[in-house]
Amino acid sequence: MTSSKRRIAVIGGGITGLSAAFYMRKFFAEQGLTPQITIIEKSGSLGGKVHTLHRDGFVIEKGPDSYLARKTAMTELAEEVGLGDELVTTNPNAKKTYILHDGKLHPMPSGLVLGIPTELRPFMESDLISMDGKIRALEDFLLPPKMDGEDESLGDFIERRLGKEVLENITEPLLAGIYAGDTRKLSLQATFPQFGAVEREYGSLIKGMNTGRKPVETHTGTKKSAFYTFRGGLQSLTERLEQSLRDSVQLKLNTGAESIDYQDGLYTITLSDGSVLEAEHVVITVPTFAASPLLKSHMDTAALDRINYVSVANVVMAFDRKDIETEYDGSGFLVPRKEGRTITACTWTSTKWLHTSPDDRVLMRFYVGRAGDEEIVDESDEEITRRVLHDMKELMGIEATPIFTEITRLHRSMPQYPVGHMNHIAQLRAELAEQRPGLILLGAGYDGVGLPDCIRTARDAASAEAQRVAQ
Ligand code: FAD
Repeated sequence: MTSSKRRIAVIGGGITGLSAAFYMRKFFAEQGLTPQITIIEKSGSLGGKVHTLHRDGFVIEKGPDSYLARKTAMTELAEEVGLGDELVTTNPNAKKTYILHDGKLHPMPSGLVLGIPTELRPFMESDLISMDGKIRALEDFLLPPKMDGEDESLGDFIERRLGKEVLENITEPLLAGIYAGDTRKLSLQATFPQFGAVEREYGSLIKGMNTGRKPVETHTGTKKSAFYTFRGGLQSLTERLEQSLRDSVQLKLNTGAESIDYQDGLYTITLSDGSVLEAEHVVITVPTFAASPLLKSHMDTAALDRINYVSVANVVMAFDRKDIETEYDGSGFLVPRKEGRTITACTWTSTKWLHTSPDDRVLMRFYVGRAGDEEIVDESDEEITRRVLHDMKELMGIEATPIFTEITRLHRSMPQYPVGHMNHIAQLRAELAEQRPGLILLGAGYDGVGLPDCIRTARDAASAEAQRVAQ
């Protein structure tokens, strides 16, 4: 099957598409192949949801703001493109996170691992859970494990092991926040498969999560931090990737893929400008609702159509430090649903990330919109600002007027993996491999929403495809 030239079309130029192009070039080259790669991107720029704004000395993230250090694929890619020295970690003095409970901010008890209490003393002393709720959580040590390995919702799982109070007051705001989701609808296997594995291995979630605790190492092996970003913002990586690809990859911006035809090993992609592109390999990295129409004529796309995407917005406010009386000692706070607030979470950005703000300024980021509560995203800027300032005043006592406010609406941006997602996607991919070799589905809609997940899956898929071609 090997020939010296192969054509690869990457549809979508977000972090997944850029990583796929980067690693396709690399792994094909290792097989002695020089692929002709084209990235097709509907919008006018690359990076997708990754978008950093530099304004008045601030580094402002309009999409994701950092990534999990323990998921190493992003650090490895950063190092490959020469950005390793630009990595920065969170302020070591801002380790605390707060949770809103009955209108007041409470520190999260220490020893929480992904929202699961692993140290009993701080948990038993926490004001976040009633005594009945704590006793219910301890039943986790006695309850029999579910051994069938069948998927269930994240919410049902946590309630089954630790009770409703821990779910609603601690775990839900923490874990659902990552997906802006409803834990009762999110698949356990697709979001936190380690919980099910721990239950089966240890019989108890608390015991298992405690046993599995590992210190987090930084890329330099020195300080410990759970999160990284880049000094110049996350866009440093997508820009560097673009730079690295520019000479050898064709970029088609402002061009959408509209349909894909297949015949005898060759894909023909019709583009929004009316032109067509031929390729032996097609990597689709767009959200599943955009991938589904491209695949409909090839197969049953029900697995893609089941994935709902939630709309969110983030509201970044900059203040004069002299107007803010409180010195924040943490990274921010989370807001459980039942508190009935507009904001779902707040990051004290200038405290958490020291590089983001001039010393005499304070930067805060508020999240609004989540599954079942998305209307706020389409309110006017004035209304969103008014409601965020209202919550700020009531929860943090801040009445200052921001120097500026940046609102970013991200419509249909957070994929919600339904129960059974992993099986549905595995089946779809198996069918694709059989019937449409060289057509690859990647991106946040499938294997994890985190940036490192997107990079890792793009890297693995590129490696597998290069090996398939070499056989
Ligand atoms: P996208 O970035 O959505 O890229 C897909 C691209 O495809 C887009 O550029 C789009 O224009 C293009 N496209 C769509 N249709 C077509 C078409 N027909 N033809 C051609 N192009 C098309 N992750 C973290 O790790 N850390 C965080 O702090 C974090 N915070 C987040 C905060 C928010 C508000 C959101 C929304 C997400 C966050 N995430 C975070 C998740 C992470 O940002 C995303 O999962 C990731 O950026 C998705 O990358 P992607 O390349 O798969 O998709």
